[in-house]
Order: sequence, then C-alpha cells, then structure tokens
Amino acid sequence: MAFGRVPREFIDDLLVRADVVEVINARVPLKKKGREYTACCPFHNEKTPSFTVSPSKQFYHCFGCGVHGSALSFLMEYEHLDFIEAIESLADSLGIPVPREQSGKGPSQAQLQRAKNLFTLLEDANKYYQLQLKSAPNAIEYLNNRELSQKIIQRFNIGYAPVGWDNILKTFSNSYSEQQLIDSGLVIQKEENNKKYDRYRDRIMFPIRNRKGQVVGFGGRVLGDEKPKYINSPETTVFHKGSELYGFYEARLNTQKLDRIIVVEGYMDVIALAQFGVSYAVATLGTATTSDHLKQLFRAVPEVIFCFDGDRAGREAAWRALENAIPMTQDGKEIRFLFLPDGEDPDTQIRKIGKDAFEAAYDQATSLTAYFIEKLNERFNITSDEGKARFLGEASKHLKNMPDTLIKDQLLARLAKLTNVGIKTLSRRDLINNEKRSEPSLSFSRLSNREVRQTPIRYAVSLLLSDPTLVKYIDNFEQIALSELPGSDLLTTLIETIQESPQINAAALLERWRNTEFEAPLIHLMKWQPETDDEDVLRCELQDCLRQIRKRANEIKIEEMIHKARTTGLNDQETEEYAFLLRNRD
Ligand SMILES: [Zn+2]
Repeated sequence: MAFGRVPREFIDDLLVRADVVEVINARVPLKKKGREYTACCPFHNEKTPSFTVSPSKQFYHCFGCGVHGSALSFLMEYEHLDFIEAIESLADSLGIPVPREQSGKGPSQAQLQRAKNLFTLLEDANKYYQLQLKSAPNAIEYLNNRELSQKIIQRFNIGYAPVGWDNILKTFSNSYSEQQLIDSGLVIQKEENNKKYDRYRDRIMFPIRNRKGQVVGFGGRVLGDEKPKYINSPETTVFHKGSELYGFYEARLNTQKLDRIIVVEGYMDVIALAQFGVSYAVATLGTATTSDHLKQLFRAVPEVIFCFDGDRAGREAAWRALENAIPMTQDGKEIRFLFLPDGEDPDTQIRKIGKDAFEAAYDQATSLTAYFIEKLNERFNITSDEGKARFLGEASKHLKNMPDTLIKDQLLARLAKLTNVGIKTLSRRDLINNEKRSEPSLSFSRLSNREVRQTPIRYAVSLLLSDPTLVKYIDNFEQIALSELPGSDLLTTLIETIQESPQINAAALLERWRNTEFEAPLIHLMKWQPETDDEDVLRCELQDCLRQIRKRANEIKIEEMIHKARTTGLNDQETEEYAFLLRNRD
C-alpha cells in the first residue's frame, strides 16, 4: 500500500536498534540454546522446538514449517500487520517517530495526503450512494423483492448508484481531483479519447470494507438480468482482491463470540445469511480463496467452512479452495466443505430452511482430508496398479505442500489404508519431494562449511551476512562484478550495499531485498553460521574466497580468448589483454 515510503536508512537503523529476541520473546517465550534461542514454533503446531532465533543476525527461522525473517517479518506474520504497520509498531515500541520521505523515490507529502483522501473519497461515495437509495423507488423495490430488512440494509450500508454517466464526476469534482476519482476506481477514463464517466450506473452498491472498517471498494449489482450482473472495483492502491473478504469486518462487529466463519460466493449470500441470523459469513471478491484470506480467517477463528453451490462450478471452486488451503493446514484449525443441494445457493437455501437447519447441515460438511481423498478417488482408479501409482503421485504432489501436522498424519494413515501401501513408504515418498523443509535439525550451523563452500561466491555471501563489517577487507571487486559467474551480481550488490551503509546488519540487508529475486538465496545463505567469530580467521576465509572467484573469472576470460583466437582471431588490444591474463594466472 502506498502510504508513504519510509526512508530506507530509517528501516536499516530501526533493525539495528531493535532486538529480534526481545520482540519475539515478548510474544513467544524463548529459551537460550547455545548462541541462539528456540521455542515451539508459533506458526505451526509442534511438540519439540524447531523455531530458532539468532541474535547475531537478528533473524529467525523455523526448520519445521520454513517461516523466517527479521523482527519486522515476525510482527507482520504474528500480528498480521502490513509492512508499514510493522515498522510503525516496532518504532513505537522503541519510542522513535517514523519519518516519511518528502520527495525523490517515495511519495511526497502531497501524494500521501492524496492516498489518505482516497479513503475519505470512498467513504464519501458510500454515504452518497446510501443517500441516493432513499430517493430511488426502483432500487428500494428490488431490495424489497429480495426481502432484505431495513436493519440489514443499514448494517451493510447498501446504497444505489443512480442512472447517468457523470453523477460522481459532478458531485465530487469540487472536493477531489479527477485523478483521485479515477484512482479510486469510481470513475473510468477511456483510453481512446480520455473521456471520463462513472463506473457504476443504475446499480445496487455494496461497500467493501477492509479489516479496519475503511471502505476500500464497491461491488455493484444490476437491478434486472443485464450482464455483467456484478461489477467490482478494480485493484487500486487501497483495494486488493486477494486479501479482502467481503463481510469480514461486519461479521466481527456483529457476532458476539466469533468461533467459526463460513465462506460463501457472493455479496447477497453474505447479506441473506446475516439477515437470517448467520452473521459470520464472508465472501471472496470474484477470486478463489487465497492463502492470505485463510491466514486472516485463522487468526480470527479456529474453524472455516467453505460453502459451495451443488453445481459443477461449485465443485471446481471447492477443489481450488482446497489446493490453497493445504499449505495453511494447522492442528487446532479446522477446514470443512459444505455442498448445498443442486440448484441452491446460501441465499435461497437459508430462506427455505432457516437458520437452525442451515447450521445443522454443518455436521454433514466434509473434512479437508475426507474431501481430498474423495476427489482423488473420483479421478483415479486405485484397483489397478497403474491407477494406484497415479493416485499416490497426485496425493504426494499436494502433501509436500502440507506442514507436518496431526492432520497430515491422519491423512497419510487414511491413504495407507485405502491403497494398502505401508505408511512408511508413503511418508518417504512425501519426504523425498520435501527434503529441504523436513530436515530435522535445530541449529543454524547445520549447513556445514563444505556445503556452503560449494561455490566461493556463496561462501563469501554467507560470510558477509554473518558479519557485514568484513566488507572492509574487500577491495577491487570490479573483476567479480564483470565476471558472469553465477551469483556474482548478488555478491556485488551486497558488497556495494554494505559499503554504502556500514552499520547495517543481516536482518536489515534481508529487508532491502524483500520480494526480489535475491530474497530466497539470501535467506538460504543466512542460515549458515561460521564456527568461529575470530575476525582474523573470517578475514582469511573471505579473502581466500575472493581470490578463488577472481581466479575463476580469469580462467573464464582466458577460455573465451582462446576460443576467439581460434575462430575470429584477436586484435592487438585483445592479444595484449590475453598476455596479461596469462601472466597473472596462478
Ligand atoms: Zn514453524
């Protein structure tokens, strides 16, 4: 979200001042073990601790489920904050105000103001649509026909966008710029002729609120049978379909004790269920349920029921939801699938049978494991050896995405029973695909030097991550930069970054490359820990790496020259360079 870029130096400094051990220990009690701290992982269910925190790197890692990161990542994951909120929370705990960039790469104060205005604009539009509903008999009649009560219309702030192409444009042109109206998704600008017009015309309007209750977008429904039946706001700086759930805010507001959530397909399902007393329904916004959705839901409740129409589209949507749910399975959290009778949706069903019968049907909802097996069974014929092999192949493809949980153990047991294949064979099959995640070691030092030494570049990166101040022993790395050795770009960038910010630590370095191609290799190399902290030894190791890298770069260049000499021949300058390279070969 573009709420003002926080200066990079501030984030570096924050991560130097904050202590990841303190941050985590305040939420999950840690035990000291050697140079590190451990605990049972707060992100997956386990009995023996595989969650490890390194004070020197300011970095945590779980060898069970693979979560990892800095104090900021921890706050994001554990308290479900976005990046900026995590920065604010961490800075707040240290009593430091968060500065915002005035100009340059980040948004200016004016831009920040505009982003804030986007929320105000959407809220103003929401009020406008609600007001319009009062003087729109056809829209009121539509809602009456759908048998929505006044109370429910108010709870969900349902409104109406009147007929006409420029109602929003005219109403808001005094308070907001045209660009803001376009940025909010309320107004469309045609590419061909730059003509602007209202996105929503003659539609019932459903405001979509984020988890803080701010309006971030709208869904608009036609009154008749025209197509498209629904229009959703486009993705904007404040609206991301993959992470918003319609009705989630209202569900938390209107349910006394929220202990389960039911996920349905549309706005009207959420609203109809609420009207009949099922106030805990949410809907995704024209997307499949994402892992981000599930993460949010599981933070709020232990049980999520996916409710699907009984038709084919419903079944397909259910399988996609299952695929996205598998990596999110946790012991103590339940996912179930409820299929309505063919031809019914939650809206029609609850009107037909009422709240009690609707809720009673939850007992017949299929568990995630049962649904998983049922679907695979439909696809493969396990009475033949070949079918069984394909069945297990498909199963293990999904199982490898599943964290080690009791749910997984149960699933393996059921698969074993069904296929008459020993459970050990099944687990092995799963583990083979899943080697990296399942290594049962507890220490950062478990990557031996030899393993990381595989290439001198990787080893050099690991050394710099374990102690960025070693950068002072590096001079003249142009040759490495120019070489096309794998990883040389990562190493060069790392060296330059540390030289620019000598105080930086490993966690802050990692934040620099969040969501980039360098993130994964950095995390991998960060897990390694030198066996000594003797600076002289580390310096020698690093210089040895650099010498090897230069040598390898030299060799590559010589090979190229030889190839060129044999094919097109070398010019004078190249001949000289070739001689130089050969002289410096060691
Ligand atoms: Zn874990």
